[in-house]
Amino acid sequence: MTTSFDKLKINPNLIDGLKKQGITNPTDIQSKTIPLALENKDIIGQSITGSGKTLAYLLPLYEKINSNNNEMQAIILAPTHELVLQIDKQIKLLSQNSGIPVTSTPIIGKANINRQIEKLKTKPHIVVGSTGRILELIKKKKIKAHTVKTIVIDEGDRLLDENNLIGVKEVIKTTLKDRQLMVFSATINDPTINIAKDLMKDPQIVKIEEKQINPNIAHMYFTAERRDKIKILRKLVASIKPKKAIVFINKDSQIQELTAKLQHHHISAFGIYGNASKEERKKALNGFRTGKYKFLIASDIAARGLDVKGVTHIINLDLPRDSKEYLHRVGRTGRAGKLGTAISIVTEREIPSIRRFAKHFNINIRQKEIYKGSILDSGMVKRPSSQKVRNRKS
Ligand code: AMP
Repeated sequence: MTTSFDKLKINPNLIDGLKKQGITNPTDIQSKTIPLALENKDIIGQSITGSGKTLAYLLPLYEKINSNNNEMQAIILAPTHELVLQIDKQIKLLSQNSGIPVTSTPIIGKANINRQIEKLKTKPHIVVGSTGRILELIKKKKIKAHTVKTIVIDEGDRLLDENNLIGVKEVIKTTLKDRQLMVFSATINDPTINIAKDLMKDPQIVKIEEKQINPNIAHMYFTAERRDKIKILRKLVASIKPKKAIVFINKDSQIQELTAKLQHHHISAFGIYGNASKEERKKALNGFRTGKYKFLIASDIAARGLDVKGVTHIINLDLPRDSKEYLHRVGRTGRAGKLGTAISIVTEREIPSIRRFAKHFNINIRQKEIYKGSILDSGMVKRPSSQKVRNRKS
C-alpha cells in the first residue's frame, strides 16, 4: 500500500518533523490505521516487529491533541520501563522536530513518585507509562483521567494477558465512556482480540497481511552441550564479529555471570535485567544504543518493543519458551526494512523446539556449524577421519 503522509491528512509541520528523522513515507500499518484513528475509531492493529506501530498511533494523537489546552488528553500504556522511555523520547523528538508543543511525561514503577507528581503538575498532554504506577497516581488523584480522550495499549497482547488485564481495565474504567481505545502488537491472537473487543465500541481490526514474522530476518541454529554454550557463543562472536547484538537468556539471575564471563574475554558486553535499579537498566540500554557496548545481555524484558538502531544479530543462548516470544526477541533486529540475523544455540534436546518455531512461522531455521572459525551449513564440514573418531568419543 503506497500513500503519503500528506494524503493521510497529517499536518505539514509533523511531516517536516518526520523528515528530520529520515521518515518520508508511511508504512502499511500507518497508512491503514491513521485514517481510522483520525475518525476516532477504536482500533486493534497488528503488524510485524519494527514496522512503525509507534508512529501509527502517535501521529493521529498529535492531530487530535489540542496543545493549547493544558489537560491530559492521552494515556499510553506499555509493559516495560524501557519501552515507556522509548515512546516518551519519540514524543519529545516529534514535538521538537515539528515545533508542535505536545508534551508528555513517563510514569514508571520503581521511580521516585514525588518527582512524578511534580512533573504531572506541569500538565503534560500525554502520560506514557506502566499500568501499576499510573493507577496508583490516578487513585492519589494526581492523574485526572476524566480528561483523557485516547488510550493506547502498546504490546497489547502482553498487557491484556491474565497478569495485566485487571490493572489495564481499571485504568480504562477511570476514563470517560466515549474515549478512543487503540491496541497494537505484532502478536494478537483471537482470544486477545475478543478481550480487546469487549473493551471497545465498533472496533476496527487492522491486520497487515504479511508474514507473521519479519521476513528481513535470517534464522539459524548451532548445537552445543549446555555447558559449552558460552564457548560456542564466544567462537561465534569471534567469527561473525556482530556490529551490535542482543544475547537473550531466560534467567535474570544468570545475566551478571554471563556478562562477566564475556567481559573477561574482552567482549564488550553489558547486562540488563528486571531486578536491576532503574539507573542500571538505563545505563545498560543507553550504553548499548550509543555503541559503548556491542552486546546487550538480556532477559525477555528487552524482547518487547525495543527499537535500537543497528542491531545486526539476536542470539538466543537459551531458547524462548514459546513461538510468540521467539518472534518478539528476534524482532529486535531487521527493523524498519533493515536486514538482521537470529541465531539460537541449542542442545540436541532443544532441536524439536527450533523445528516447532520454524513450522509455526513457516520459515527456514538452518543448522550451521563453526569450523576453523568459519560458519558453514551443517553437514558441509569435512573433518579428517581421525578427528571424526575423536569427536565421537568425546
Ligand atoms: P516501531 O515499530 O514503531 O518501533 O518502529 C520501528 C522503526 O521504524 C523505528 O526506528 C522508527 O523510527 C522507524 N519508522 C517508523 N515509521 C517509519 C516510516 N514511515 N518510514 C521509515 N521508518 C519508520
